[in-house]
Amino acid sequence: MTIPTVTLNQGTTIPQLGFGVFKVPPETTQPIVEQALAVGYRHLDTATIYGNEAGVGAAIRASGLPREDLYITTKLATPDHLAADATGAFQRSLDTLGMAYVDLYLIHWPLPARDLYTAMWTQLVQIAETGRARAIGVSNFQIPHLERIIAATGVVPAVDQVELHPVFQQKPLRAYLKEHGIAVEAWGPLGQGRWPLDWYAPIADAAAAHGVSPAQAILRWHLQSGTIAIPKASTPEHMAANFDVFGFELTTEEMAAIDALDTDQRLGGDPDTNNGDGPPAAGTWTPSPNR
Ligand code: NAD
Repeated sequence: MTIPTVTLNQGTTIPQLGFGVFKVPPETTQPIVEQALAVGYRHLDTATIYGNEAGVGAAIRASGLPREDLYITTKLATPDHLAADATGAFQRSLDTLGMAYVDLYLIHWPLPARDLYTAMWTQLVQIAETGRARAIGVSNFQIPHLERIIAATGVVPAVDQVELHPVFQQKPLRAYLKEHGIAVEAWGPLGQGRWPLDWYAPIADAAAAHGVSPAQAILRWHLQSGTIAIPKASTPEHMAANFDVFGFELTTEEMAAIDALDTDQRLGGDPDTNNGDGPPAAGTWTPSPNR
């Protein structure tokens, strides 16, 4: 199975479908990631704050797969960001992963009131110059944060990894990212299990029409929208199903019907108010069957 790739503005390519390991416990990360690699995933999304970089690295070594066949993302943790130490944090991540380089290193959150993200981006630019991060980008950055780091350094992030799923589609941000050649990566691509995936008729109908599950229809919507998606799966069945999304195609009408489900309401943490005082608080809004 060849996974489509997205070419990044910094010159490398990223597999459009990956496997996320948020909340995968450190002690079970190695077997779960080994399972994901056996299913065929080659793109893994971890973060320092997940505490499972070591398990990701161990799974890769155990798989025997060549490093160049894998795409590994990790992210700058909030405590390191607050200590203004992206440079040290990045090397610690490499050491924990047991790798000489990562494919993508992201600033996890902008923490705007701390006013350190431009300094952190400057450190990431220097890291990229050493070749130990093949691409650098950001996560949870809003348009003003992006404008500021680009103006300060002249370096455009390769990726912005943000909450994105059918009920929160980030349309204004996506338009900005497209205009600036920044790839869109969806976290929570399945809505983090916060709503039953067959609730909305456009998703349930598209799934039925193609003989797939609602989750598969949603992932197809991401892929056909040009978004990079990194679903997490807690069972082997979901892991395999989420990878099996290349044998069908949503119609223009099905895509438009899912596009129309946007409520413009986030379910996860708000990048404008998360300033690292604790884990980002989930949004207070909850979806309902009538949105
Ligand atoms: P997700 O949208 O991928 O949802 C995961 C949940 O969906 C699973 O726990 C399971 O309950 C359900 N699920 C998975 N496959 C399914 C299927 N086939 N059918 C039915 N239900 C299914 O949410 P996520 O894990 O939060 O996001 C994915 C990844 O994004 C994370 O693992 C992490 O790598 C990344 N992430 C990044 C940030 C960030 O701030 N940058 C925040 C959250 C997540």
